[in-house]
Amino acid sequence: MSADARKIRLLMHLRRSGITDHRVLGALERVPREQFVPENFMDQAYEDRALPIGMGQTISQPLVVAYMTQELEVGDLHKVLEIGTGSGYQACVLAKLCRRLYTVERHRALLDVAEARFAALRIHNITTRVADGMRGWPEQAPFDRIMVTAAHSGVAPPPALTDQLGVGGVLVIPMGDERREQRLVRIRRTEAGLERENLWPVRFVPLLPNLPDEDDSRAASW
Ligand code: SAH
Repeated sequence: MSADARKIRLLMHLRRSGITDHRVLGALERVPREQFVPENFMDQAYEDRALPIGMGQTISQPLVVAYMTQELEVGDLHKVLEIGTGSGYQACVLAKLCRRLYTVERHRALLDVAEARFAALRIHNITTRVADGMRGWPEQAPFDRIMVTAAHSGVAPPPALTDQLGVGGVLVIPMGDERREQRLVRIRRTEAGLERENLWPVRFVPLLPNLPDEDDSRAASW
């Protein structure tokens, strides 16, 4: 089966699985996922599964990328923050739908590769930073939308992130630890305060505090 045929099959699967937002489906159609996975996994780029990207991290499953993007309710004029750049795939999907995307990653090596992909695809509305994303990006706050793509194990989302959400803003974050069930949570900032809704159960790598020390990065392998 050709890559195009596989992509069409995947888009049909997403539609049947509850992705009804045409802008989101269009963004997934336009971002070439095969360019975000290691060469030896390219033939699986349009399967609905998470794949390894190095440093013990993964590119999320397409259905989860589509669902999180849909539930974030991104608009073309929005300023959006993503925590956990990883391969850069979710960042590109968001960048197609918003005015400007800010993305934070704690592994310099992953961010370097992601940045090269943004340049190759001529996506120019993404700004990146190596940092601990649990602190958000205070110099650029407030954000209209914030998406976290690693699971937070606390009972409430990191306060820096909810603090950096503007009024009317939405935060989507997987909550729960690695061993137990995680759930995607949506937080909405209204004039009255924060509203919380539970969405689908999910499975993510953990959101880790601080930056890895250099020894960690060097020792990390596939
Ligand atoms: N959005 C990514 C999926 C990344 S997996 C994609 O589309 O490929 C989660 C990523 O979050 C990993 O790259 C991991 O290094 C990063 N991460 C974990 N904790 C973090 C933190 N506190 N700050 C920034 N990035 C973090």
